[in-house]
Amino acid sequence: MCCLSSAAIAANTPIEHTAPPYWWANMQHPDLQVMLHGKNIAHYQVKLSSVDVQLKSVTTLDNPNYVFIDLDISQAKAQKFDFVFSQNGKKQFSHSYELKQRQTPAPQGLSPADVIYLLMPDRFANGNPKNDVVSTMQETWLQRDSLIARHGGDLQGIIDHLDYLDNLGITALWLNPVLTNDQPKWSYHGYAATDHYQIDPRFGDIELYRNLSQKAHQKGIKMVKDVIFNHVGDQHWFIKDLPSATWIHQFPKFTKTTYMTSTLMDPYASQHDKSVLLDGWFDKHMPDLNQHNQYVQNYLIQNCIWWTEVAQLDAFRLDTYAYSDPDFLVLWSERLTKEYPTLGLFGETWVQGEPIQAYFHGNTNIHKNFNATMHGLTDFQLYYAINAALNENFGWETGVSRLYYTLVKDYLYTDATHNVTFLDNHDLSRYYSVIGEDIEKYKIGMGFLLTMRGIPCIYYGTEILMKNFANPDGLVRLDFAGGWQGDSANKFEAKGRTPQEQTAFAFVQQLLQWRQNKTVIHSGKLMQFIPEKGVYTYFRYNDKETIMVMLNPSNEAVSIATDKFVERTQNYQKATDILTQQTFDLSKSITVPAKGILIMELR
Ligand code: CA
Repeated sequence: MCCLSSAAIAANTPIEHTAPPYWWANMQHPDLQVMLHGKNIAHYQVKLSSVDVQLKSVTTLDNPNYVFIDLDISQAKAQKFDFVFSQNGKKQFSHSYELKQRQTPAPQGLSPADVIYLLMPDRFANGNPKNDVVSTMQETWLQRDSLIARHGGDLQGIIDHLDYLDNLGITALWLNPVLTNDQPKWSYHGYAATDHYQIDPRFGDIELYRNLSQKAHQKGIKMVKDVIFNHVGDQHWFIKDLPSATWIHQFPKFTKTTYMTSTLMDPYASQHDKSVLLDGWFDKHMPDLNQHNQYVQNYLIQNCIWWTEVAQLDAFRLDTYAYSDPDFLVLWSERLTKEYPTLGLFGETWVQGEPIQAYFHGNTNIHKNFNATMHGLTDFQLYYAINAALNENFGWETGVSRLYYTLVKDYLYTDATHNVTFLDNHDLSRYYSVIGEDIEKYKIGMGFLLTMRGIPCIYYGTEILMKNFANPDGLVRLDFAGGWQGDSANKFEAKGRTPQEQTAFAFVQQLLQWRQNKTVIHSGKLMQFIPEKGVYTYFRYNDKETIMVMLNPSNEAVSIATDKFVERTQNYQKATDILTQQTFDLSKSITVPAKGILIMELR
């Protein structure tokens, strides 16, 4: 539990929680709402000891253990001041608060020049065995061969392997959530927060998180924080002592969300179906926050600003985006963007079909009234298409035609280039298993991912052929071999990998390092051609450079006449495959090998 500060103890206050725990002077937004929690604190009058912080209002909700103090800090300097609690005009106790000097982080945001690496901190590397079990927490079960127990991975383990990540060639790090999850079980994945202002002690602490951010930035690696507004863990301190009945959505009996995000744009949907989607609980131990409640809104928004300032974050990935109240999402992105115009934002939209996915993008060509200023979405539709392209036979609507049609539907977006593209993630079967452990197909999908529009995201271990189907999901969250002392193999090093794993690693590394300086991939235009004979061909191009990609997942080599590509090839004679250095004559047909991909620089 947080957060009885030593100052609070010294002052003998009943305050147990302060959210946010401190703030900064000179923020863009003039107001701050401080939520204090402590036994019967609503029974006091509250005043301030500051001359330039203005007390706007003090609000209590149903529960006398909370007060919400609205402050105008627009004229305030950095300072410490007290909330003074009195009864009948007589001071009873005070609670100290601080407005710090801003470090004014300038988030770098995310762009298609980036490649994100997603990892699950409990399962990546154990840099500090001493924090594996924290006896004061509810779950003390550590068992590495269990899929649902904690394994001991932590922030120090990530710091210890920043060189590995840098050497691989990724430019941004997305960790599954690292906030305290003091739940009795299933807490390893981090999606059931019980304290929004603490790093889970089994991962480290705030200082170590800042340290990770600083060290990552020194290597040119950006920091992405995974946040969840839809739900929290049922052991969250504010769930165990609810500020008000409307803090969460409550039902006469347990009501689970339908997970059917389609109800939001369904012209024939019932209000019942819409409400259960948005207000139903994600699971029994994950209560659904009411984002219509303005105090919940402030709590969540300020929390994101606080972490951006504290840890110098570059971007947020918003979990279960489609399940959060849409009006709140707009407000959230407005507040964050006002404070940090360069901050990157992308939302998880695990939905079916491009029109449904595009609906959540905001500012699209079809959903003009919803502008969440969300820069991108997790592009599940392109993920489905890659799977199909590599596993289905080619046909009018199947195989690589799925890639073609999915990209056609980019017309729905005003800009799809900031969608986060991927081959797998922590919820999905691992890519290498899905494609039948076929290294040639692996190269096709990876080559596509790293040359197509979007911000690619690589799930930890995919570069070394980690495998398994997500049934159960723990199977796709196994430990990265070598992350624990005494592991029988260390796959962070070439000598610990099998020849096949090394082939995959070297392929990904070569492409990532090539991609880093290829502005034509980052910001060049995209032109695709209707697939022919099972071969899908597209170009990335700008004024200076043209890249031609041809991919053929079939079992036979296919020769493709090049004359139809003339509008992109007319200024060039040769095409050199960056993978093999093989050079092709653009005036002749090009033969794409069986289960092959050609990534060609035109010369
Ligand atoms: Ca550990």
